Amino acid sequence: MKIKHLEDLNTLVSLSKRRGFVFQSSEIYGGLGSCWDYGPLGSLMKLNVKRAWWNAMTRRPDIVGLDAAILMHPMVWKASGHVDGFSDPLVDCKECKTRFRADNTDSYINEKKCPNCGSKNLSEERSFNLMFKTHMGPLEDTGSVVYLRPETAQGHFVNFQNCQQASRYKIPFGIAAIGKSFRNEITPGNFIFRTREFEQMEMQYFVEPGTDEQFFKEWKERRWNFYIKFGIKPENLKFKDHDKLAHYAKAAVDVEFKFPMGFSELEGIHNRSDFDLSQHMKFSGKNLEYFDEPNKKKYIPYVIETAVGCDRLFLAFLCDAYREEVTTDEAGKEDVRVVMGLHPEIAPFKVAVLPLSKKEELSSISEKLRDQLAEDFDVNYDESQSIGKRYRRQDEIGTPFCVTVDFDTINDQAVTVRHRDKMTQERVAITQLNAYIAAKLKTFNQ
Ligand code: ATP
Repeated sequence: MKIKHLEDLNTLVSLSKRRGFVFQSSEIYGGLGSCWDYGPLGSLMKLNVKRAWWNAMTRRPDIVGLDAAILMHPMVWKASGHVDGFSDPLVDCKECKTRFRADNTDSYINEKKCPNCGSKNLSEERSFNLMFKTHMGPLEDTGSVVYLRPETAQGHFVNFQNCQQASRYKIPFGIAAIGKSFRNEITPGNFIFRTREFEQMEMQYFVEPGTDEQFFKEWKERRWNFYIKFGIKPENLKFKDHDKLAHYAKAAVDVEFKFPMGFSELEGIHNRSDFDLSQHMKFSGKNLEYFDEPNKKKYIPYVIETAVGCDRLFLAFLCDAYREEVTTDEAGKEDVRVVMGLHPEIAPFKVAVLPLSKKEELSSISEKLRDQLAEDFDVNYDESQSIGKRYRRQDEIGTPFCVTVDFDTINDQAVTVRHRDKMTQERVAITQLNAYIAAKLKTFNQ
């Protein structure tokens, strides 16, 4: 058997649309640039991605959760540096009107030419602020301007004291959040890799100055292990140190994933020093120092940040999981089985119920079985076409187990359970099925 991995993002874009992972936003109106909707399978899978991250972060004794508002006091963005500095250098091609970023477009950096038509007739570089603005209240004047947050992190900094005091946690401790962020990106693209509206999963870990380098190292390791645990192949991951540090950073590294367009940032891990809390102290006039009671010490904590895009991780999971198993029979005829080899916790459905026939005696058992399984799992039900085709449909969306109900089931009250990857089959009693699936999901890859 030959295995082929994903080579082209378009394969995934069309599978996503066909099977209901991701649709173009407002498609019947021609779509809206770089906006995407998560369909029946995508919305389930996205919840699983978030749950995996959330549990890894908050099922620890030292991290609390937060769900902050998207709209924040405009001074937050003054203090954070976003109003003055959150911008990309923008260049327009005067020939073909393409607009692109000057700092990440190779043909411009190397030869000062348009990446689309090759013309050298280009505008000067202009600074373009990436924050979306809107107005709060009925008046659209300058006093009513608020921003859609471009990152979730600032919610953590302004709530640092609230979270610390409410939870009575001592430093080192962290705040984790999942939420929408908005950036008016100049060059969005590559499907859901870079969009203007996206979800971030960020954790800010507050530490004593002097211990920051050690915690930076620890978080690098933990984040790497997270990806491996959820099935990302180590050869598709690498760390990349930043050559140029952002104004707030003392150290920064990206976790890069090998997307079809090449290794690109999946997550950023930053040592933000005491920049953010110091800025918010200055702009708000509030003292955000931490008092270390036992050691009678006062200090402004340093922050180690881990920040990953939920959509980007969703894409990485799909890219990493996609495989085509190609077998050739004796006559030389090729057969391709497309398998989305997702980790069972990430897969949209854990189990599919497939009655062997549409006859009433089987569908009544099968529907009951679906309800029984749905008490514990996300279940899919499929009764149309041949069983072979139905197995293939479940393989393509990553369902770990298929359960077939056949005419023997009527007498023996048992069903056949098929494993997605090994394609092994086992007969299991209906009364034992939920416990069986739960146990097998835990040891799926063993
Ligand atoms: P990039 O260099 O790709 O623009 P960044 O370095 O500005 O990203 P951060 O501000 O560190 O990104 O954001 C943390 C994470 O949020 C990124 O690693 C990425 O996964 C995600 N992210 C950032 N911008 C976008 C976007 N426009 N669309 C989707 N995800 C994004």
